Amino acid sequence: MAESKRDYYEVLGVSKNATDEEIKRAFRKLAKQYHPDVNKEPGAADKFKEIGEAYAVLSDANKRRQYDQFGHAAFEQGAGGFSGGFEGFNFDDFDLGSIFEQMMGGAFGSSTRSRGKKKSKGADKLVNMTLTFEEAVYGAEKSFKVNIDDACEECGGAGGFDEKTCSNCNGRGRVLNEQRTMFGIFQSESTCPECQGRGVTFRKKCQKCSGRGIVNKDKTIKMRVPRGVETGDTLRLSGKGSAGANGGTRGDIYVEFKVKEHEIYQRDGKDVYVKIPLTISEAVLGCKKEVPTIQGTIVTDIPAGTQNGDKFKFRGKGVDDEKTGRKGDAYGIINVIIPSKLDHTQKKLFKELSSTKLDKDPEFTKYNKYIDD
Ligand SMILES: [Zn+2]
Ligand SMILES: [Zn+2]
Repeated sequence: MAESKRDYYEVLGVSKNATDEEIKRAFRKLAKQYHPDVNKEPGAADKFKEIGEAYAVLSDANKRRQYDQFGHAAFEQGAGGFSGGFEGFNFDDFDLGSIFEQMMGGAFGSSTRSRGKKKSKGADKLVNMTLTFEEAVYGAEKSFKVNIDDACEECGGAGGFDEKTCSNCNGRGRVLNEQRTMFGIFQSESTCPECQGRGVTFRKKCQKCSGRGIVNKDKTIKMRVPRGVETGDTLRLSGKGSAGANGGTRGDIYVEFKVKEHEIYQRDGKDVYVKIPLTISEAVLGCKKEVPTIQGTIVTDIPAGTQNGDKFKFRGKGVDDEKTGRKGDAYGIINVIIPSKLDHTQKKLFKELSSTKLDKDPEFTKYNKYIDD
């Protein structure tokens, strides 16, 4: 889980702002050192896997962004606060061999892809989602329809009927490969390309999916929006995208949020601003005022002589951000409302008031100096 996992940048020994080239170089060096075919020390295989995992994330711009934003939680099953809609990025399915093969130009690694049908990851999908201010602030259960490739119902995703033992691997599902390299001869086992590791093939192909095991359809996806998202934030629903071909992993769905404006609240990141309307007398005489924050209504003292535009801070009353666990602040901005319609009594009182000396403030003196006699 999150606590025991090392930081990916640390694993590769690069800085947070390392370039793609630096990441690639670091990976190449470490992978050579810890490849289980070369390094027989205990723990080397785990180390190799860790390196591969870190590289898989940091070498992919999207994944790296997700990682920078959410940390390991971005790829974990029901991790931390992000339970529910999320599904982890399953590193067990993840094909280290293929990354390694690409990197090293085939010096190591399996030859899974050298024969037979290609295993490939399903397509990713970007979905735009509009949220109300409240949904973004408090989090929400949402669902949306998306058109993706999914397992064929006719054949249950198998691609055919009437199974027989695979003749290529004699039902083992794995085949042995031998490779001659500069480090010697390496034997490795890989998934049988004929049966994709199932050990069986079909006598009859499924007509509905033409043996692909997958069909295109509209699917309803349920998800939970975490508290505190903002316009432009993207959430990855790992493995919710299109099914992969020939046993490849599923693609991901990226949900990009757009948050609607609110009648009285304005957000600046995790801080929330609200205008506090005051009557002239409230501003002049001071008052107790109820301020509705998104964390509940609070009563605050407005001192006598409060000016239009004065700012009041309410610590921790802003957005409770689920991904960082931090709380923003609320700000109340004084908005003195000058009445535009007065009744008789009010008019009379204002007239009386205007006959008193209200212009003693130095602002008036300063200003009046420049008025011609
Ligand atoms: Zn086979
Ligand atoms: Zn089918």
